[in-house]
Amino acid sequence: MSREPSASTAAAAAGVPPATPLADVDTVYLDLDGCVWFGEQLADGAIALVDALRASGRRVGFLTNTSNSDTAQIAAKLRRLGIVASVDDVIMPVEALAAHPWMRARPRVWFLGPPQLRRAVAELTPIAATPEEAELLVLGRDPAMTYADLADALQVLMRGSRLLALNVDPRLPVEGGRMLPGTGAIAAALTYASGVVPEVVGKPAPVFFEAALQRFGSSAERAVIIGDTLDADIAGGVAVGMRTVLVGGASSSSLDPAPVPDHHVGALRDVGGLFGL
Ligand SMILES: [Mg+2]
Repeated sequence: MSREPSASTAAAAAGVPPATPLADVDTVYLDLDGCVWFGEQLADGAIALVDALRASGRRVGFLTNTSNSDTAQIAAKLRRLGIVASVDDVIMPVEALAAHPWMRARPRVWFLGPPQLRRAVAELTPIAATPEEAELLVLGRDPAMTYADLADALQVLMRGSRLLALNVDPRLPVEGGRMLPGTGAIAAALTYASGVVPEVVGKPAPVFFEAALQRFGSSAERAVIIGDTLDADIAGGVAVGMRTVLVGGASSSSLDPAPVPDHHVGALRDVGGLFGL
């Protein structure tokens, strides 16, 4: 019988990182836009990855910065594309809105965003009837937004109100490598016009990641965030002490220093190996 050390023992002795560095992770948060899907197109291997993670006993959550639909619509889209999901598996910025300190006094808000999110916001705090009576601007991404909507939102800021953005993502990746202007691009237009800088509710805000951990009763040490953006997914995960995986090669950072992911893979189909799947 051979007395030679095993390959893994030799690797550990040589300081080589283990081949399955996420084996001890029990909770996996997957970003959606640009990671699990591109518009209506699912990333290669997404269904197999989610199935394998669940089959191995891990909890999978979808931690998305989406600001133009609600959890029911996101869960329905996941199912339509072939991934089993319920509303409890989806965590969105609008849900973290309630936990934001600026919302504690239940201010009258002016909401620039899609109708389905307006309803969710209205359950948290009164919606102002006019820009003049608003105390806070809450911003999502409404594809039907007009110049007049932007002008109304600007009036709120010019009266001295603050700006709470559901996310500040510059772009939204969709099918065929196309990009749409993200909520952050709309926020930037308002900031340029008013000088008011947004506070963000979604990724990378720690309050959002903490809400996600709380939802599943998970500890940050045993959780990982997998996403395609350094400034949202990786920066937020690092801030709360989660493990981080960057997917794809296109992300740049506006932060200095730029956040550094624990792992970087070219595509979602390469993620399973990090778990030994
Ligand atoms: Mg993304």
